[in-house]
Amino acid sequence: MGHKVLIVDDAAFMRMMIKDILVKNDFEVVGEAQDGNQAVEKYKELKPDLVTLDITMPEKDGITALKEIKGLDPSANVIMCSAMGQQAMVIDAIQAGAKDFIVKPFQADRVIEAIKKTLS
Ligand SMILES: [Mg+2]
Repeated sequence: MGHKVLIVDDAAFMRMMIKDILVKNDFEVVGEAQDGNQAVEKYKELKPDLVTLDITMPEKDGITALKEIKGLDPSANVIMCSAMGQQAMVIDAIQAGAKDFIVKPFQADRVIEAIKKTLS
């Protein structure tokens, strides 16, 4: 496959978990960001095929970053990473253009299914 992915999460452990799943499934992790500001900057710089975007982050949250990324590139492929109990924010994100969402704790098969569906 070799699709380029940008991973965004304020928790290093969560980034590591997703990166591990992606690398084992032949995706290329081209960058990581730990807040919404970095996410937007790295999106511009790296032009990834897909972004996994955490909702709750300092500085700029995932919903705001999503809107900015979609403003820059309406065709951006963004999957939200949510925690339990964030259904309302997930709905906001889907309305703002997110293609899908994955729920923590991540299950590898669900992550890969969401990514493949989004890129197909
Ligand atoms: Mg977070």
